[in-house]
Amino acid sequence: MIHHRNHMKIKRNQLYLLFFACSLLLFFGIKLKAQNQNVVIVIIDGARYSETFGDPVKQYIPFMSAIAEEGSIIDEFYNNGITYTSQAIPALWCGTWTEVRDTVYNGSSTSYAVNPTLFEYFRKQTNASEIDCYYVLPYIENLWLPSFDPDYGPSYWPSFHSAGISDTDVCNHTLFVMNSIYPRLLLVYLADVDHAGHNGNWNYYTQAIKTADSIVGAIWDNIQSNQFYENNTTLIVTNDHGRHDDAHGGFSGHGCSCDGCRHIMFLAAGKNIKAGYISEQHRTIPDMAVTAGSLLNISLEKATGHVMSEIFNQSPVYPYSYNPNFNQVHQISPNPFRENVRFDFEASPNSLLKLQLFNLSGLKIKSIEQWYPSGGQGEIIWNGCDENGNEVSPGIYLYFLMINGNTQSGKIIKHLPYKNY
Ligand SMILES: [Zn+2]
Ligand SMILES: [Zn+2]
Ligand SMILES: [Zn+2]
Repeated sequence: MIHHRNHMKIKRNQLYLLFFACSLLLFFGIKLKAQNQNVVIVIIDGARYSETFGDPVKQYIPFMSAIAEEGSIIDEFYNNGITYTSQAIPALWCGTWTEVRDTVYNGSSTSYAVNPTLFEYFRKQTNASEIDCYYVLPYIENLWLPSFDPDYGPSYWPSFHSAGISDTDVCNHTLFVMNSIYPRLLLVYLADVDHAGHNGNWNYYTQAIKTADSIVGAIWDNIQSNQFYENNTTLIVTNDHGRHDDAHGGFSGHGCSCDGCRHIMFLAAGKNIKAGYISEQHRTIPDMAVTAGSLLNISLEKATGHVMSEIFNQSPVYPYSYNPNFNQVHQISPNPFRENVRFDFEASPNSLLKLQLFNLSGLKIKSIEQWYPSGGQGEIIWNGCDENGNEVSPGIYLYFLMINGNTQSGKIIKHLPYKNY
């Protein structure tokens, strides 16, 4: 006991610090969960349902079966449009079947989705910067593009991380992006199952499914062990299409409307998703992005899909809206910033505003308070300096803006300032 007391005395300062840090993390951690959620979507190209969750013993998907015990499966999830990648991937992006048009972009012939994509809705409606939104896929020379919709378009496209040749490469790049850039919306595209299927070799095909399954397992483990994502992230895994059932040509092809081509998997697990739940409700491809949007608190205004609220634990997450009765950050600009970043908002009368900035280790860098007795347009500017007036290093910072007990939080990025020589 005496030994313990002495030990306590020596460590008292550190313990106070630790206690303080823990209380902060607990407090803000809870607020963060209530306000912000991250979404990671994995698309496994061309896996037939009979080899994934339609297999009674699930022999090729041990990792996803384990994740399903912590999450929900839609047993009746279908490609209800065209069972080719070139149409179904844009439908997954857009929450609707969309026209896909050919174009030449930066000198390369490619195609783009006419409807806005989940990436664009997310970035525009949450003021998310390009590093908050990532699309990781193998190296593709002529990337298929999101939309040029006048309300959305290229300024809201995701960061593309297109590198490597195999699903394993894509896995490594995904873990790198998650652990160094911390995007809030991440889409991962795995292509090898479809390639192996077209090859016509059953062993290659089922081995590719096993590899994709283990990659989903690695991503799920990384979510659980990463401070930014833990307890605060939903993982969604689905397919663009299946493959012919045996009566329509078998696993080496796809593209028709047979049940094998249409029936695909949908797995979700995470913060707000029911555990160990298997839904029998009929759902289709456009519902995926709309459901992901609901978890991100955004609304896909031009989508036709529906929120799959049957898999949610709690009452539905309400779509994002500008409610004039609530204080709302309208803009954080510029983000990334070099010298000053400005938070614009509408304050109701008698608002107390507190802005707190943390680095990714959870250390508080700076706090700013302002009182708005008569409300109205408000702004807080952070000059990129800590409490002692020293400029902080370039990197990612977390902000928590508390307005009368409501907290909004997110990320801002500081780049090196321009220097005059
Ligand atoms: Zn495909
Ligand atoms: Zn194919
Ligand atoms: Zn078919």
